[in-house]
Amino acid sequence: MNATIVVLAGDGIGPEVTNEAQKVLSAVAEGFGHRFDFDHRLMGGCAIDALGTSLPDETVEAAQAGDAVLLGAVGGPKWDDPNAPDRPERGILGIRKALGLFANLRPTKLYPQLIQASPLRPEILEGVDLLVVRELTGGIYFGPRQEAGEAGQEAHDTMLYTRPEIERVVRLAAEAAMGRRRKLASVDKANVLASSRLWRRVATEVLADYPELTVEHVLVDAMAMHLIRRPADFDVIVAGNLFGDILTDEASMLAGSMGMLPSASLGQERNRHGHPLGLYEPIHGSAPDIAGQGIANPLAAILSGAMLLRHSLGLEQEAAAVEQAVAQVLEEGVRTPDIAHTGSETVSTQVMGDLVVQALSERISAGSQE
Ligand code: NAD
Repeated sequence: MNATIVVLAGDGIGPEVTNEAQKVLSAVAEGFGHRFDFDHRLMGGCAIDALGTSLPDETVEAAQAGDAVLLGAVGGPKWDDPNAPDRPERGILGIRKALGLFANLRPTKLYPQLIQASPLRPEILEGVDLLVVRELTGGIYFGPRQEAGEAGQEAHDTMLYTRPEIERVVRLAAEAAMGRRRKLASVDKANVLASSRLWRRVATEVLADYPELTVEHVLVDAMAMHLIRRPADFDVIVAGNLFGDILTDEASMLAGSMGMLPSASLGQERNRHGHPLGLYEPIHGSAPDIAGQGIANPLAAILSGAMLLRHSLGLEQEAAAVEQAVAQVLEEGVRTPDIAHTGSETVSTQVMGDLVVQALSERISAGSQE
């Protein structure tokens, strides 16, 4: 397969971790006989510095023309002025909109080797393998709002959802659940919010098309509790923008380190291979506190690359090979500082990437000799 992967490395540790992900994707291409072209573009703080805008038109055009987008992270103290006319985060919201990405998929899988990195007890974490699907372009983040203004007496935001917005994300989550353990929890606050009552009504209608799924509707406050008390009971969780934002961060703590968790944002647009044109990024930010030190964990970015192979290129075997290579290096005890026991030996970002490439290449050549 020939594919063009648009790389938006961004700021802080973004370039450090995407570099390793690109290395792994190149090894996949070589090992499995594909050709991947990497088209590097600017977005975020680096784009503000170089071109005066967080999301240059040429970046949007390249992303729309490519087969998938690999993003590092954007932002940092240099661009933090709340009164600045443009901010790095605007680039992310803009590119999601330009690519019509309405669903954010965040898998949380606990590697048994890292169980000690989580703040929760091992017996609670055993078997955790969940996927949170968050609606990305609607809800309270995009509804009509009124700032407090000079007077500072009153402000409001509006949680607004339409039937098509709910339908498409619930359907995407249902399809994902069909390919997994066939359990789906839809999250809302239907006991209080009108938009949640619509959410539940539409979700119930959509899910009637999936009789094979075990479905439950869970109030968001209860879900916040269940995720800590019995996370292994859940498979796919679908939620609106605000609830999903909060629950995905909560779920990320189950895995211990932000440096381990990938994500995919998908929409209805298809690439030239007929697969969803998606944007893939680690869930962590640009980590300015460790940027430039070569100690960032690149595994979330590498695993985002695996999701890219699976969802946007339809390369399931290749995606699984990357995931197995990551599991193998963890099994061998290789650790960046964020996932290491205090005082134990650690490797750099680059060495972690090299060792994943090595494990992957060994697997590919072992497979071809079978
Ligand atoms: P962060 O995720 O960047 O960092 C939180 C903590 O986790 C830090 O201590 C950091 O060192 C650590 N960490 C994060 N990724 C790591 C990795 N791969 N390896 C090891 N340690 C890692 O969140 P923050 O500090 O709240 O935000 C920093 C900047 O990133 C801000 O400007 C924020 O706006 C931006 N941000 C961007 C995105 C994005 O690009 N999608 C997401 C979140 C935050």
